[in-house]
Amino acid sequence: MSATVAPASVTSVARPALVQLDAIHKSYGEHVVLDDVNLKLAAGEVMAIIGPSGSGKSTLLRCVNLLEQPTSGRVTLAGVTVEAGKPTPRKDLVQLRRAVGMVFQSFNLFPHLSVLRNICLAQERTMGRSRAEAESVSMQLLKRVGLADKAEQYPARCSGGQQQRIAIARALALDPQVMLFDEPTSALDPELGLEVLAVMRELADGGMTMIVVTHEMHFAEDVSERVLVMADGKIVEQGPSAMVMRDPQTERAKRFLSAVKNR
Ligand code: ADP
Ligand code: MG
Repeated sequence: MSATVAPASVTSVARPALVQLDAIHKSYGEHVVLDDVNLKLAAGEVMAIIGPSGSGKSTLLRCVNLLEQPTSGRVTLAGVTVEAGKPTPRKDLVQLRRAVGMVFQSFNLFPHLSVLRNICLAQERTMGRSRAEAESVSMQLLKRVGLADKAEQYPARCSGGQQQRIAIARALALDPQVMLFDEPTSALDPELGLEVLAVMRELADGGMTMIVVTHEMHFAEDVSERVLVMADGKIVEQGPSAMVMRDPQTERAKRFLSAVKNR
């Protein structure tokens, strides 16, 4: 019988995955878009996904919250597992989707509603918060993204960077466990992109679990702990950010990173 038990820090017990994809395939007809994608993300981790256009990054994100149904494979998120091709109880789907907030390249705010109402609406409809409660949550979040003074404005009166920060506040208002970002700054002028990246960096520092598809190589290297490189529907390389970004091991990742850096 062993007399000593190693402390957890020594045995390097893996943190349980909050997001796990197993053997995800996605095809549109003959066109294979995701080819055996596997990944695990622990609570509090920040992962960047980079790779050439058309490599399947957006499709991958959309499979995580089941906006897109994988052709085969398994998605596990916040304790709910959904297996492609098997019927999923509706309450499981609802629970899984509620655990995920998503921010797109285009902000998709309602133009006819004030900034405050944009953030309140889904809280009232899907979470059953009262108007007063939703407004109080929304105001706190607007403060957090530096836009409390815009509450009564319409989105059209806000810059692109401000609109994207509002879209982030709107997603956060639903108390997600994971935030997915699909190229959140690529529609923005560089300076406006920076204010969005600053908000995302704060979220990451605050412990939010995030998957970020991005062309912002500094963000990928500095903010995310792990970087995943996709090409042709496959993960061609993944690892600690500094390693992947500075010293990629695969030819495909090297080629992509040198193309991006030499632009
Ligand atoms: P990325 O985000 O890396 O640019 P996408 O995930 O958007 O890549 O697309 C990957 C591939 O899947 C592309 O070849 C794209 O044309 C194709 N694709 C994406 N969505 C659909 C769809 N709804 N129907 C058919 N093909 C699609
Ligand atoms: Mg995309």
